[in-house]
Amino acid sequence: MLNRFVIPVLIVVVMSLGFYAFPARAADPPRNYVALTLDDGPDENAGRVMNILRNNNARGVFFVIGANVTARPGQVRRMRDEGHVIGNHTYDHVDLTTLGAPEIGEQFALTNAALARLNVVPDLFRPPFNRANESVWDAGWDQGMAMVRADCDPADWSYTSARPIRQNVQNCDLQNGSIIQLHSWNAATSQALPGMIRDIRARGFCLGIVKPSTVWNPLHAGWIEVAPSPETDGC
Ligand SMILES: [Zn+2]
Repeated sequence: MLNRFVIPVLIVVVMSLGFYAFPARAADPPRNYVALTLDDGPDENAGRVMNILRNNNARGVFFVIGANVTARPGQVRRMRDEGHVIGNHTYDHVDLTTLGAPEIGEQFALTNAALARLNVVPDLFRPPFNRANESVWDAGWDQGMAMVRADCDPADWSYTSARPIRQNVQNCDLQNGSIIQLHSWNAATSQALPGMIRDIRARGFCLGIVKPSTVWNPLHAGWIEVAPSPETDGC
C-alpha cells in the first residue's frame, strides 16, 4: 500500500533534483547545417577531395557513377571508411528523362549492385544534369532512395581555377539545410574547397550530411534533410 504513494513521490523528487542539478543550457544557439555534395566520382581527384575533407574534419556526400565504382572500388571503400555518404548517380551518367521506366530502374540497379559488392547501400540518388520526371522519382523510390537536388550550384565544373568557384558559393543565399553541388573530378574544385569550408563556417554554418527524412523538405522538394554527421566538423 505504502509503495503506491512513496514511489511516485520519490520519482517527482528525483526528477526535480535533476532539473536543478542539470539546468538546460539556454546559451547554446541552434546550429545551422549545410551539406557539400560531390558528383561523378570516384575519379582521379576524389582522393584529394577526401584529404581536404579529412583535414577539415568534414564529411561529404558523394554521388557516384556506377561505371566509375567498378573501375575504382578502392576509392569507394575509402569514402565508406571515412564516413562520407555515398549516393547513386546512375551507371552511365545518362539523362534519365530520355529513358523508359525499365531502363531508369536498370541504371539505378546496376550502380547499387556495384556498391553492394563494397557493402554500401545507398538511400539517396541524384539524377545526372538534375533532370528528373515522375518515372525517375518512382524508380529511385522503388529502390529505397530519395532524390537530392541542390539549392547552391556554383557551376564548378565550368571553371579551371578556384577563385570563381569559391566566390560563387559565397554568393549563394545559404540557409539552414542548404545543399551545395560540386564535382569531385575537378582539380579547381578541390583547390577551392579549403577556403570554401572556411567561408561557410565563417558565415555561421556547420557542415552536415544529407539523409532521407520522413518529413517533406520544401527547400529541396524531397524527403530529405541536412543533418549533423556522426563526428560533426568541430561545430
Ligand atoms: Zn553528374
